[in-house]
Amino acid sequence: MTVEPSLDISPVSQPEIRSCYAHLQSPSKGYCFQCNRPVCETCAFTIPMGWMCPDCMTSGASPQERRSNLGYAVGSLLLAVLGIALLVAAMASSFLFTPEEAETFAKVVGILALGSVLGGITLGLIGREHAKRTGSPLALIGVIANGALLAVYGVLTIVGLSS
Ligand SMILES: [Zn+2]
Ligand SMILES: [Zn+2]
Repeated sequence: MTVEPSLDISPVSQPEIRSCYAHLQSPSKGYCFQCNRPVCETCAFTIPMGWMCPDCMTSGASPQERRSNLGYAVGSLLLAVLGIALLVAAMASSFLFTPEEAETFAKVVGILALGSVLGGITLGLIGREHAKRTGSPLALIGVIANGALLAVYGVLTIVGLSS
């Protein structure tokens, strides 16, 4: 005669109040909206949907979201580079063409550069808005770079008009 080992299948009694995942001595006040871990008063970030733990708060946006944010930032930076290239081209044109040709070329380049710079600022601002959770500074750099270029073009136009 064999004795069946008694399997204890009774559910482990769950304590009513769970402790915080980070602070085992602190009772949880709620669960993280994203990872569902219990968080205490100290580490629960209040978000519109409930609470979020520090880990999820700092890891921020999803990889997909990060990629699109990066797209805006890189686009903005590329337009800033294009703006610089156009500026150099406009300056070089006075050495390569006759004064009349250079003037026409500079006007066309100026319009293109203005479009590029304004586009860069717009992309950067969109990227900045999207990057609030990731905190990436790239989009802001794009805005500043394009803004600085816009200022350079503004000064050059004023100098050009007054000469
Ligand atoms: Zn979490
Ligand atoms: Zn905690």
